[in-house]
Amino acid sequence: MRPVVLSGFMGTGKSTLGPALAARLGVPFVDTDAEIERRSGRSVPDLWREEGEAAFRQREAELADRLLGQQGGVVVAFGGGTVTVDRVRRLAADRALVVTLMAAPEAVVARTPNLAARPNLAVGDPIARARELMDHRAAAYAECHLSLRTDTLSPEGALDAIVALVGRDPLLMPLGARSYPLDVCIDEPARLTDAVARCAPSSVVMVTDSNVQRARGAAIDAALRPLQTPTTRVALPAGETHKTLASVSTIWDAALGAGVDRDAVVVATGGGVVGDLAGFAAACLLRGVRFVQVPTTLLAMVDSSVGGKTGFDHPTGKNLVGAFHQPSAVVADLHHLTTLAPRELKSGLAEVAKIALATDAALLDRVEAAAGELAGGNHGALLPVVRAAIEAKIRIVRDDERESGPRALLNLGHTLGHALEAQGGYSRWLHGEAVAMGTVAEMQATASLGWTPRDLVHRAVAALAALGLPTRVDPTELAAAWHFVSSDKKRAREHTRDVLRLPVVTGPGRSAIYTIALADLRAAALGS
Ligand code: NAD
Repeated sequence: MRPVVLSGFMGTGKSTLGPALAARLGVPFVDTDAEIERRSGRSVPDLWREEGEAAFRQREAELADRLLGQQGGVVVAFGGGTVTVDRVRRLAADRALVVTLMAAPEAVVARTPNLAARPNLAVGDPIARARELMDHRAAAYAECHLSLRTDTLSPEGALDAIVALVGRDPLLMPLGARSYPLDVCIDEPARLTDAVARCAPSSVVMVTDSNVQRARGAAIDAALRPLQTPTTRVALPAGETHKTLASVSTIWDAALGAGVDRDAVVVATGGGVVGDLAGFAAACLLRGVRFVQVPTTLLAMVDSSVGGKTGFDHPTGKNLVGAFHQPSAVVADLHHLTTLAPRELKSGLAEVAKIALATDAALLDRVEAAAGELAGGNHGALLPVVRAAIEAKIRIVRDDERESGPRALLNLGHTLGHALEAQGGYSRWLHGEAVAMGTVAEMQATASLGWTPRDLVHRAVAALAALGLPTRVDPTELAAAWHFVSSDKKRAREHTRDVLRLPVVTGPGRSAIYTIALADLRAAALGS
């Protein structure tokens, strides 16, 4: 069991709920303030007075490091300001399940005895000061797996919700106010019901495509039914050729026709095409409504549903119009994969291999070891790999949400892959197949420039082939596709030449962005 961290403002009930939760879970309870007092032999107000806030935060950070690093479960109640330190908040999001307890400023002040001894509330009107501090810390408090209002929820209700969270063990995309949980499970429809219920929507716009509607529609409807929320259904025509503005308009027409308001939630149920389209529609609808990603392809589970990139294709190129709009939740239930065509499943494995090659050596080892089972769609083998791939993507996106730096590493294989996909009219190759070939072609090109070790190219080819993916790139096809590389959106003009920022694999699970002239890439990839 992962540690559980109770965070939130003073007076929200951390030290009351903490021991009761620890008893329910059968693990120890540690209150960081009490532990610091015990270890230092001084009270928290004395430590603040004598050493200052920075030294106190340092004590908290060292204690959090020790508590969250140990084996076995533990419930830890943080101090009210502990998560304002980036390093501690990051540590908690990585290693623990973080629950933020919330309450109105009036409630916390009423619940806090001996206000004069509280260094943060002692000056001025305590309610106004509490409100100011809560506002100031709102983004840090929002980086949690679950937030609960303890001024409206009973202690028993709060305990039940936290115990259920421990059972779910979701991942977390920590992006301040735009943070969200990601559930990974097998055949647990209630996860979707709960994820949408947590949004408390005024209505639901359920977007899918014709294939997914046929294969998964009944299961999704059953999961949404208990919500008893007015629901508008939109089934788009399936496939990349329909990833167009017309499809986005279909979603807007249906939602606006049904009179939805800004508290509506769009539920994107499908592969990457549906997720990208529905996410973009949600980003612009009424200037932005929330959406939940319900990926039903492997590719969507490990890649497109995570990280908030949304958009559609333009006749001049793929994904050329879009927006960053983070979902409110992602629910990846591997049971949906039972109706997915084997070729589509393997296509998703290309994105797993890509993120492993670019950023995660341990995941690469794991994929190689289980390649046969993964390609065969064994859910038991897929579950930990899907989870690890999502974790790898989270590590990249949390540091670079808008792709001004390391997120571009995830474009490995996509520069040449997109070109091959477009050249094939989006029907010859599936996205992941094109990415697999693009990865090989890019790695071969960067190996010929001395940037990628040759043995790693062989390793990548062997891994992709073992996953059942195409690895041989026909030079004639690539040459014919080259005009799509020239219009790639990552292209830039530097002095008098066109350049690209290309992800280059420099070691197993290691990569860097190199700037390369288009002409040089062409020469390296095609030998001309
Ligand atoms: P897709 O959405 O077209 O789905 C593939 C096919 O499988 C479709 O025909 C679909 O109808 C069908 N399908 C989906 N789920 C099914 C199920 N459970 N059972 C039966 N049939 C099912 O394609 P994809 O490979 O999921 O996604 C590719 C798209 O994702 C591309 O447009 C790509 O640009 C995008 N993408 C986006 C990001 C991002 O960060 N936003 C990342 C990677 C890829």
